[in-house]
Amino acid sequence: MIDLRSDTVTQPCAAMRAAMLEAPLGDDVYGDDPTVNLLEATLAERAGKEAGLFLASGTQSNLCALLSHCGRGDEYIAGQDAHTYQYEAGGAAVLGGIQPQPIPWNERGELALQDIQRVIKPDDIHFARTKLLCLENTVGGKTVSLDYTHQATSLARNHNLNCHLDGARVFNAAEKLKIDVKEICQPFDSISICLSKGLGAPAGSVLVGDADFIQRARRWRKMLGGGMRQAGILAAAGLYALTHNVARLAEDHENARVLGEALSKIPGFSLAEPVQTNMVFLALEGDPLSALTSHLAEHRIKISGARWVLHKDVSAEHLKTIITACEAFAAERR
Ligand SMILES: *Cc1c(COP(=O)(O)O)cnc(C)c1O
Repeated sequence: MIDLRSDTVTQPCAAMRAAMLEAPLGDDVYGDDPTVNLLEATLAERAGKEAGLFLASGTQSNLCALLSHCGRGDEYIAGQDAHTYQYEAGGAAVLGGIQPQPIPWNERGELALQDIQRVIKPDDIHFARTKLLCLENTVGGKTVSLDYTHQATSLARNHNLNCHLDGARVFNAAEKLKIDVKEICQPFDSISICLSKGLGAPAGSVLVGDADFIQRARRWRKMLGGGMRQAGILAAAGLYALTHNVARLAEDHENARVLGEALSKIPGFSLAEPVQTNMVFLALEGDPLSALTSHLAEHRIKISGARWVLHKDVSAEHLKTIITACEAFAAERR
């Protein structure tokens, strides 16, 4: 089976499983798990922050961040399609009484500075208190430039807002921009990083920030039921991923580029936007897309919509199978 639905579908390789089996463990709620402690410290160091917190998922990590930055009646600014706004079941509003203020992204995945400026609310009893700017990088497979990041976060700081980065795929962004992940993280107070996407771990995210912030987030994590015990068995997979699966993200980007280029040459296929990292967006919808989905399923290729995601379990060899199946589909429909 070739699965292009997401980079979350990766299977832990034999060496990652071995690392999990061998990991020294303790009760992490007591702070006793050496493997969790090492993962938290390692990722904090890589991101240039004081401390880290291991969480079950990216959603839990973003939620703990929002709850730690904002209180009841506060507000965070995020993209209209941001994960924190659109894909986390409204957790910040439901569980934290935190109001989202969504604004549109432009084609580069940026929130226009004038839009940010416009929605920051003055101190007035009619309004929620604007507390946080929340960005993403990568966003929809696109990298956001350091220049823009600095402008947006400076604007936020000038209004006393904190800044959070949903960096689910921040290592993809660093690879594409050819910079240290620290540089991307530097302007933010907190960053949430997923280990279970392109990095290939079975579960887990790490939230990084300063020590006080992480201490507050640790309390929220406990309250949300996210205090795990011998969690080092999972953290070991994350440590393995940080050692072995970061540099190889370049292969996923190259595979996405090759796939995008080949697909765009097939009659009836075109790309909705240029490939930047590990995602290919096809300009296909409705009936042709559902027919293509069934056709590919017959060739043991799984897709979910027009976003096709490359990851470590899709090889250059698999690309040929995918391209051949798409060519056959195009030929049949002519
Ligand atoms: C995947 C993802 C998350 C977190 O997702 P989980 O499935 O909860 O780990 C957060 N933000 C973005 C942009 C993501 O792609």
